[in-house]
Formats: sequence, C-alpha cells, structure tokens
Amino acid sequence: MTQSPAVAVDDQANTAILVRDLHKRFGETEVLKGVSLTARDGDVISLIGSSGSGKSTLLRCINLLETPDEGQVWVNGELIRMGRDRRGQAVPADRRQVDRIRQRLGMVFQGFNLWTHMTVLENVIEAPVHVLGVPRPEAVDRAKALLDKVGLSQRQDYYPSQLSGGQQQRAAIARMMAMQPRVMLFDEPTSALDPELVGEVLRVIRQLADEGATMLIVTHEMAFARDVSSHVLFLHQGRVEEEGTPDEVFGNPRSERCRQFLARRA
Ligand code: ADP
Ligand code: MG
Repeated sequence: MTQSPAVAVDDQANTAILVRDLHKRFGETEVLKGVSLTARDGDVISLIGSSGSGKSTLLRCINLLETPDEGQVWVNGELIRMGRDRRGQAVPADRRQVDRIRQRLGMVFQGFNLWTHMTVLENVIEAPVHVLGVPRPEAVDRAKALLDKVGLSQRQDYYPSQLSGGQQQRAAIARMMAMQPRVMLFDEPTSALDPELVGEVLRVIRQLADEGATMLIVTHEMAFARDVSSHVLFLHQGRVEEEGTPDEVFGNPRSERCRQFLARRA
C-alpha cells in the first residue's frame, strides 16, 4: 500500500484525528467504502446513521480494534503504520505504536465494560497505576475528583453490580477520563440504558464537551447530537452521505436518505 505523505505532521498540530479514504472489508463485504473525517482539538463530531451503516467499524478502525484495509488514520499527529500478515490481511505494523495510540484515545462502549470484580474506585485507578505508572495515592486523588465530576463520589466503593446502568456508564466515563485521552470515542453510550437513565449520562458527556473535550460520538439521540456537536456526519452503507454543522444536517439536509433517516427518528 502506498502511503502518501501529503499531510505533514506539522500541518496538523491541532488535528487530533484525521481519517482519509478509509476502507474496511469483512470477507467479501466492504463495510467502509472510503470514509474521511477530521477532528480538531475541541471538536465534537457526531456520527449518525442506520444500524449497519459502519459507525462502530469506523470508531474501531480509529482505535485499532479493527485494522483498515486501505486509507490513512492519523491520531495525535501520527500516521498509523499498516502492514500485511502472511495471509495478506491488514495488520498494524508496530505494536508499540498501537499501544501509544490507544493511550491517546478513550473509548466508552454501549455495554459499560467495567471490571466486575473491582470497585468503582479500583476501576478508575487501574490503568493510570498499571499502564502509566502513576503512584497509587496520586491516582486515587485524581480518581476521586473524576468521580465527583460524574456525580459518583458516594459510590466509589461500590461494585458495578450494585450500581444502576446510568451510574455504571458514568463510572466508565470517569475511568476513560483517568487516562487523560486526547480524544474520547463514544459508541452509543446510552443505547443500553433504561430511558430514565439516559439523561444523566448525556449530561456528563455534554459537560465534558462544554469543557473543550474532543469527541467522536455515535449516537441515536438526535436532539443531543444537534445540541452538543460542532459537526455531524451521516453514514449510509459505509459512506459519508451527508456532513456539516448540526444546523445544516438536521435543519436542511441535502441528501434524501439523510432526510428520511431523520424523519424516522423524529
Ligand atoms: P453500525 O455501528 O453503524 O450499526 P457496524 O459498523 O457495526 O454498523 O457494522 C457495519 C456492517 O459491518 C454490518 O453489516 C455488520 O454486520 C458488519 N460487521 C461489523 N463487524 C463485523 C465483523 N467483525 N465481521 C463481519 N461483519 C461485521
Ligand atoms: Mg454500532
């Protein structure tokens, strides 16, 4: 694969994520068919679209849970180097780079993915202590501040099973923030929640956005996306079918498919 050096690292000092013409196949099926996006520091980019349109695959390619077949992913000014394994499958060429990139990205999934055998506080300090080598007392102090921020200071010694879904997801957000990621990736963070618990999680995400966090958010919460985003991408069958400001995409979509999608969601 040729890697065009067209984008110099210097040019993207404030570019947290750059995706160029990304393609991803699963077997014969091409799931991403040339997706590009740019997230600059402070951008909040919502990814919307029907189930199966490729939203999760796009996020997973960015944090290298999947390896793209073609195209470029830059994170934090670094081009992710790709290679091929013996069967010709795309694989990251440099495991150390993968580890470095993952540390710059935080991910929150639909399912809360907390360690069930650890308390909330232990969940939040785990990676800072064991991955970054932060001294435990310092990690605990920071974790307490983060739990306070997400409204869980009273729950730090609870186990995940003792919490509501909304509390678990807020704990998962605190755990992600403990690694001080440059970009936060959210994949349908409220889809698994009972409706009455959605608001408390969206409020936390909105607060982070207001504080200037850089985010990519896959969401079906259209009012939230319209409100919180600086930019919206509508994916359809592996392509960016529509993109623009929230007012452009929600207020006056050019694409008929986007129009129909939004009408179904209204
Ligand atoms: P979305 O998040 O927009 O619902 P996904 O990115 O999860 O869409 O999936 C896009 C398409 O890729 C779907 O058709 C899905 O079935 C397929 N797909 C996703 N992951 C895999 C996989 N690991 N193996 C095979 N097909 C997959
Ligand atoms: Mg998905």
